[in-house]
Amino acid sequence: MLICNMSKAIIIGSGISGLATAVSLATKGWQVLVFESNAYPGGKLSQFEIEGYRFDAGPSLFTLPNLVTEVIESAGKKVGDYFNFVQCEEACRYFWEDGTRLTAWSDSKAFAQEVQDKLNEPSVKVIRYLEESAKLYKNTHSLFLESSLHKWQTYFNKEVFSALFNLHSLHLTENLHAVNAKRFKNPKLVQLFDRFATYNGSSPFLTPGVMQIIPHLEHNVGTFYPKGGMHSITEALFSLVKDLGVEFVFNSKVDEILVNNKQVTGVKVGGKSYLSDLVVSNADVYPTYRQLLPKEKAPEKILKQERSSSAFIFYWGISKSFQELGLHNIFFSNDYRSEFNSIFKEKSIPTDPTIYINISSKETETDAPKDSENWFVMVNTPGDYGQDWEQIRAELRLAVIQKLNGILKTDIEPFIEVEEVLTPPLIESKTSSYKGALYGSASNDAMSAFLRHPNFSRKLKGLYFAGGSAHPGGGIPLCLLSARITTDIINEDYAI
Ligand SMILES: Cc1cc2nc3c(=O)[nH]c(=O)nc-3n(C[C@H](O)[C@H](O)[C@H](O)COP(=O)(O)OP(=O)(O)OC[C@H]3O[C@@H](n4cnc5c(N)ncnc54)[C@H](O)[C@@H]3O)c2cc1C
Repeated sequence: MLICNMSKAIIIGSGISGLATAVSLATKGWQVLVFESNAYPGGKLSQFEIEGYRFDAGPSLFTLPNLVTEVIESAGKKVGDYFNFVQCEEACRYFWEDGTRLTAWSDSKAFAQEVQDKLNEPSVKVIRYLEESAKLYKNTHSLFLESSLHKWQTYFNKEVFSALFNLHSLHLTENLHAVNAKRFKNPKLVQLFDRFATYNGSSPFLTPGVMQIIPHLEHNVGTFYPKGGMHSITEALFSLVKDLGVEFVFNSKVDEILVNNKQVTGVKVGGKSYLSDLVVSNADVYPTYRQLLPKEKAPEKILKQERSSSAFIFYWGISKSFQELGLHNIFFSNDYRSEFNSIFKEKSIPTDPTIYINISSKETETDAPKDSENWFVMVNTPGDYGQDWEQIRAELRLAVIQKLNGILKTDIEPFIEVEEVLTPPLIESKTSSYKGALYGSASNDAMSAFLRHPNFSRKLKGLYFAGGSAHPGGGIPLCLLSARITTDIINEDYAI
């Protein structure tokens, strides 16, 4: 066993998981070096600005802020010195083409009352549904989200034992839509709760009913907004790791993970070797094996897993204020089943897509010029399977504008004064995410949780994985948990 005395760790990638892993390792005394292909940290959690409009490039919904504050506190630092956030009163505003509008309040009782008023579904049913969500979360989070599923020690923990004991109650044999359709009569409410499957890039018609845990986070725990926008999460962790002495090399793509006798010895970047005691890959597991470890036997079953959905995003600078819109807004499609069929079966763009609009200038006025708004307009799509994305851009732009015009009863096109897009191929080229998947592999199978890549390599000593394509999955909260599980395993392996 090696005792850490300024041992060297190399991290490939500075996504949210890479940054959180760097904090933990540096705090434990490791000398940490991070290689990042891009010129900036954060991976998908980055930002950009055009003509006075600031946009968060990727994530816009923030739950479980305690996972960020815990990383800061674990380094012995004061949270307020790095990160500030507020709780949101509204989780989301929902719009349908027939004119129905509903505000999903973060407070569960207010939300249930709104559902009763707008959708004529008894509030007690919503309360009961959210209580079930809370119970499911309590029964599952320690096993599925906070432990390695690939270490035998996990299965001897009391909480995990209780989760295993309750496996029968997790709705693993029915899909989320079936669970929701049994609970509610109004198809709009079923659609609203089906939507939570998209939070990990899956289809409600395929993902297991246990995904009913997700609304617990939004409506029992709450949604939050980082002061200054989502990118301030990246800024907080980046400034923390720099204070801890972590070194970064930007614009530096790792070309190879060096291996000697089944022991990882470092990485190769631009023809130069950098030696280390361990390597953590924050890159997607697919390119990690295919590009960085071409001579090693890859875990083919894991790499063949279905990928999560991707997205097409229009970043629009809008020279008008829309009072009826909030921070998060959803404009539902008329046929949800056909939408997910397109995404997962046909690998095509839905003709009537559900549209999500995030407007951070509702919270941070300076994100847009006066009397204007920064719209992040997102449509879920399949990954990049060779579709013609230029043609899709033109068709989708038209479909999105027509749908929004109908619901908002305004021609929005004249107000679009700035436009940028993000496509599945661009997501792949900017973050190395295979096929441009937002969340690694999809959860369209009851066994998905067990089929994600472990946080360590079973074949190569000194190789670890933290990020959205490794256990427990994608999304900011899970990526932070991924970093925590990975560093716990490293701490055990190196007896720190
Ligand atoms: C459009 C969009 C919307 C999303 N919405 C939400 C949301 O609302 N809420 C939410 O919680 N999550 C959301 N997500 C998902 C979330 O952004 C991701 O799950 C999370 O940010 C992934 O973090 P990660 O640590 O896996 O690293 P990534 O962000 O994937 O970053 C990996 C980093 O590794 C670098 N890298 C890769 N290969 C190499 C190499 N060979 N050498 C050097 N560097 C390398 C990349 O350049 C990149 O910076 C969204 C994602 C996208 C794209």
